[in-house]
Amino acid sequence: MKNRLTPTYMFATYRDVTPEFLAAHGIRALLSDIDNTLAPYEQPEPDDDIRAWIAALQEAGIRIALVSNNHAARVELFNRTLGLPAFPDSHKPGKKYLLRAMEEMGVTPAETAVLGDQLLTDAYAGQRMGLPAIIVPPIRDKRNLFFRFKRLLERRFIRKYAKLHGREDYMKFWKV
Ligand SMILES: [Mg+2]
Repeated sequence: MKNRLTPTYMFATYRDVTPEFLAAHGIRALLSDIDNTLAPYEQPEPDDDIRAWIAALQEAGIRIALVSNNHAARVELFNRTLGLPAFPDSHKPGKKYLLRAMEEMGVTPAETAVLGDQLLTDAYAGQRMGLPAIIVPPIRDKRNLFFRFKRLLERRFIRKYAKLHGREDYMKFWKV
């Protein structure tokens, strides 16, 4: 089976996903996760860093949609002042809402990437559809057993990326 869990690209934070990087890789649209990618679970609204990052992308002509597995109330409050196309309860790695987001933005898979913090949902969802998966470390993980188990499963794929790209420093983000 083709490896759909190893990230296509990794960055230490979403802020490093710049318009220049995206343009250089032919990416004109981002399907972005919210929780632990842009903000921790307990942060209900975007901060200035998030706003500045989104504004910079939009100024460069890059489209962005929020595609989240969290519920509608969380996504709507987070998006209230952003006004992005937003899809709660998206059931990633299901394809349905990723396809719908691309449709709403009027973009094709060939020019779109997924941005997220989880390999089993975000990376897998994107790569099974042929979209590059840009992965960032979780901002502040829940420390329960379920999340620790997920991170443990992810480590071998992060290690694969780290070795391939000489980024062993990223392993520190996947301590279990
Ligand atoms: Mg997430």
